Amino acid sequence: MPNNRFFSLAALSLGICFSHSALAGADSAAVNLARAAELAAIRAKHEQTEREVAAIMRARQEEIRRERGGSRPKASAAGETTAPPAPPVERWSYEGETGPLRWGKINPAWAKCHSGNRQSPIDIREGIQVELETINFDYRPASYNVVNNGYTVQVNFGAGNRISLTGRTYELLQFHFHHPAEETVGGRGFPMVAHLVHKDAEGRLAVVALLVESGNPNPVVQAVWNNLPLEQNEPLVPITALDMSQILPERREYYTYMGSLTTPPCSEGVLWIVMKEPIKLSPQQIAIFARLYPMNARPVQATAGRLIKESQ
Ligand SMILES: [Zn+2]
Repeated sequence: MPNNRFFSLAALSLGICFSHSALAGADSAAVNLARAAELAAIRAKHEQTEREVAAIMRARQEEIRRERGGSRPKASAAGETTAPPAPPVERWSYEGETGPLRWGKINPAWAKCHSGNRQSPIDIREGIQVELETINFDYRPASYNVVNNGYTVQVNFGAGNRISLTGRTYELLQFHFHHPAEETVGGRGFPMVAHLVHKDAEGRLAVVALLVESGNPNPVVQAVWNNLPLEQNEPLVPITALDMSQILPERREYYTYMGSLTTPPCSEGVLWIVMKEPIKLSPQQIAIFARLYPMNARPVQATAGRLIKESQ
């Protein structure tokens, strides 16, 4: 995946690595000191990553300027400098000029959004019913931060939450939401979905999708909503831990297929695991997200003969 670097930089810039157990038993002053030091370290790491991302962006813009044949902004006869060429569009959206149908054309690095044939989301249907391996969810209370990044609300984790299947172990990096759900099942839509993004040591991605139904309030999601940052792209670091084992549905049957990221750069080779049993959020909890993001779902993509497997 050519944009893996962007992805991992983004994840890194938001990642945090508190260790709760290391702090247990210490007196509160020591805890405060340790936490302040950790926060300073996170801030420094975040700033360094921001600088790295900015450098990559500048290099890319320079490359595009060269490709267009322009070099530097030219001085006019009057000696004034003309406006520099417009930077390439890095912004995408869910409608209009920068909407999903245009993603692949906006930026050469996002070509897969247009040309890929292993894209997500899909309408899940005609899966072959087989005995699928049980996914081992090794989730535990962990420190987290919440970011409203302008595309979704995202919760980032440090190390500690893992899943394992097919002999591989994937670490939970982050989860985020879409409204409505991006994937459909036999044509049926859902009001929301949570995507839990995991990565293994070789950089392979596995996304667990939790479809959402309206019902009782969800305590994990409530903790996230309670900690929604007031400003975009400014992570909020709650004091409490989040226990992702509490968000999973009771039944562990799932659908699985190979797909892609559902946002630019639409990189393929992503293992998708869609849990069959939806989780529940209250109508109020769904309304809170819908108010922030009335529509942040990519339309379903062609299955193109892909195999879908499902638990019996
Ligand atoms: Zn997603």
